[in-house]
Amino acid sequence: MVVTGPGVIEQLPAVIAELDLPERGLLVCDAVTRKVAGDRVLAYLEETGHPVAVIEIDGASMEELARVEAAAEGCGFLAGVGGGRPVDLAKQAGYHLDLPFISVPTAASHDGFASARASIRAAGQKTSMEARPPIAVVADTTIIASAPRRLLAAGIGDIVSNQTAVLDWQLGRDRGEEYSAYAAALSEMTARLVEENSGLVAEGGEEGVRLVVKALISSGVAMSIAGSSRPASGGEHKFSHWLDANASSPALHGEQCGVGSIVTMQLHGGDWERIRDTLAAAGAPISAEQLGFGDDIVLQALCEAKTIRPQRYTILDRESPEKIEQAARETGVVS
Ligand SMILES: [Zn+2]
Repeated sequence: MVVTGPGVIEQLPAVIAELDLPERGLLVCDAVTRKVAGDRVLAYLEETGHPVAVIEIDGASMEELARVEAAAEGCGFLAGVGGGRPVDLAKQAGYHLDLPFISVPTAASHDGFASARASIRAAGQKTSMEARPPIAVVADTTIIASAPRRLLAAGIGDIVSNQTAVLDWQLGRDRGEEYSAYAAALSEMTARLVEENSGLVAEGGEEGVRLVVKALISSGVAMSIAGSSRPASGGEHKFSHWLDANASSPALHGEQCGVGSIVTMQLHGGDWERIRDTLAAAGAPISAEQLGFGDDIVLQALCEAKTIRPQRYTILDRESPEKIEQAARETGVVS
């Protein structure tokens, strides 16, 4: 179930009633998202007779996951309130404990709030784990529109990169990998809709935010149809994962994926300028420098992206380092 629009956070008790969830739930938030939305969620639920426990987490690590799972003892559902980490922990705990999980995003910075994968730090490394997809997404666009603009711009980067993810998936399909034309079409259309409305989206108003939220949810649906993250995660995501694992201070996931997508679209022979212009209009980075990196580390990340998830074949696995570097220069990602 997806409920989105201004002020819909008030509808959370109605959503819980409609889904016929057990009374008692655990709210997972962090210090920021508790202020932004968590306390209100708590008040709405208590008013409607739901005894709710709250846990404030600090980062998404295996230790914090264990704490959330212990706190969920005796609860019938979990609600993750946040941009990333509280949602990741709630969905992973829900998966382990076999409890339904409601996603209450406070920012639209990536498609994780609607997906079945969680990103959790294990042994010092950000690790993507199989998790539980949300039984409901309650995305209040008034709350999301008041989040820092940088987060929305990053979400747009995560969406536009769907196009190169699909092209990379087609390379995999040609090598015998399972492929879903339906999931691919949905993922691509999602990116196209955001590009066609880049002006509206760039304004960051409620309507633009709603479009981005729907796009991120649609990406999650495309991944569910495919049964993997393939429709929304190609070479540009491997580039981002490499930076997360190796750079001292990585940029945001969607920012890195957007820049990676400019380069991989050029390698695919597609309209990379349109991706660059959509990102620029949204105020998202379009170069190594704007990501806060030197050219050398970005070139290294592009060339070594193939070492990340090597079973996932992409254009960065196929092309030579010389060709990749040439694409990075031609697109202005490095100078
Ligand atoms: Zn992503």
